[in-house]
Amino acid sequence: MTPPPSEPPAELPSEPLDAADPLASFVDRFMPAGDVVSYLDGNSLGRPLRVTPERLTAFVTHDWGSRLIRSWDEQWMDRPVALGDRIGAAALGAAAGQTVVGDSTTVLLYKAIRALLAARPDRHEIVIDDDQFPTDRFVVEGIARERGATVRWVHVDPALGVTVDLLADVVGPDTAVVLVNHVSYRSGHLADMPAITRLVHDAGALVLFDLCHSVGVVPMRLDEWGVDVAVGCTYKYLNGGPGAPAFVYARRDLLPSLDQPIQGWMGAADVFAMADGYTPADGIRRFISGTPPIVGMLPLGDMLDVVDEAGIDAIRAKSLALTDYAFALVDAWLVPLGIEVATPREPAARGSHVTVRHPAFEQVVAALWEEGVVPDFRNPDGLRIGLSPLSTTFAEVRVGIAAIRAALLAVG
Ligand SMILES: *Cc1c(COP(=O)(O)O)cnc(C)c1O
Repeated sequence: MTPPPSEPPAELPSEPLDAADPLASFVDRFMPAGDVVSYLDGNSLGRPLRVTPERLTAFVTHDWGSRLIRSWDEQWMDRPVALGDRIGAAALGAAAGQTVVGDSTTVLLYKAIRALLAARPDRHEIVIDDDQFPTDRFVVEGIARERGATVRWVHVDPALGVTVDLLADVVGPDTAVVLVNHVSYRSGHLADMPAITRLVHDAGALVLFDLCHSVGVVPMRLDEWGVDVAVGCTYKYLNGGPGAPAFVYARRDLLPSLDQPIQGWMGAADVFAMADGYTPADGIRRFISGTPPIVGMLPLGDMLDVVDEAGIDAIRAKSLALTDYAFALVDAWLVPLGIEVATPREPAARGSHVTVRHPAFEQVVAALWEEGVVPDFRNPDGLRIGLSPLSTTFAEVRVGIAAIRAALLAVG
C-alpha cells in the first residue's frame, strides 16, 4: 500500500489573507520564536514582545538597582491601580478606579467570591457550571465547604457553553453569586455577558465573570453592562509572561460593600499608618493584600501599549478572520479524517480558539511539539488551536493545520 499523501493541498492559500491584514505589521513586535513554525497556544501563554528584555534590564539596573526603595514612592505604590486602569480602558470598557492588578487569578477568584457571598448574607447558593476551568470549580467548592454555602451546578454540553437559558433554570431567590467563564477554555464558546448579567440581577444576585480566555481579544463593556465583578489573567492574550499577576474589576457603586477576606497592610486605608486595626481602602485597592508583584507587571505594561495602538475592535476582527480561516482548513483537511469540531461557529458565540476532537490527539500533540508546531491538548481528546491576533499570521495557521493533518495521516 502506498502511504497517503502528507503534503498539504494547494487550496485555501494564506498569502491573500496576510496581505490584506491591517494588523500584519504587529507580528514583528514579538520576539522571534526559535524553532517554532506555528504557535497555536497564545491562549495559554502569549509570546514576549521584543522590548521585553530591554524593559526587564532597565528595571533591574535603574528602577530597582539604583532608585531602590525610593521607587515605591516614585512609581511602584500606584502601579497596581495604574495598570488596572489601563487594562480597563484598553480591554474591559471600564472607567478608572475599578480595576487592580495583584494576585493570581485563583487567589482573586477566592477573594472575589468570598466578598460577593458576604454581600448577600441572606442567600446561600453559588451557581457555577461543570464546564468551567478547574481552578474556578475548586475555589467554589472550597468556599462552599468553608462557609456552609451550597454549590448549584449547571450542566453544560462541553462542545457548547453556558447560556442564559441554562442559568435561568437554577438562578433564584437563594442565589448569592453566579460565576461564569466568559469564554470556555475547552470549546471557546463566548457567553452572552449582558444577558447573563441582567438575568442574575433580576434575581437579586451578583455575577462574577472569569475573563482569562477573553481579555485582550474580545471587546467588552463591563461598566455599561453593569457587571458586578470580573477577574482575568494577564499571561494569555495580554502577554504578561508566565505567572504574571491577574486583575480584578469591581463595579464602583458595589465596591464599598465588598470586603475581601485576606486583610493585609497593602489594602488598608492608610498603608503607612501601621494602625492597630484594619480599615480597608475606600477604592479598588482594598482587593490588594500584601506587597504586589511589581516585577511580574513589567511585560504587561508594554503589551497594553500595543493593544491600545492596534485597538481592541481591530484585534477582535482579526481574531474572527483567523478563526474563520481555521474552520475552513479544518473542514477541508481534518473533518474528512474523522475529527469533530467542538467550537461554536457563529461569530457572536466564539472566542479566539478552535477546538477539534479526535482520539489520537494525545499522541499526535507530542509529535507536533517536536516539529515546532505548538497547539495544546486538553483531556480527554481535545486539541486547541489558539489564535492570538497580534502575533499570529494566517500562514502560521495553515502550516499548523497542515502539520496536524500530516500527523493524523501518519498515525493512521
Ligand atoms: C488560565 C485560566 C485560569 C488560571 O488561573 P491561575 O490562577 O492564573 O493559574 C483561571 N481560569 C480560567 C478560566 C483560565 O482560563
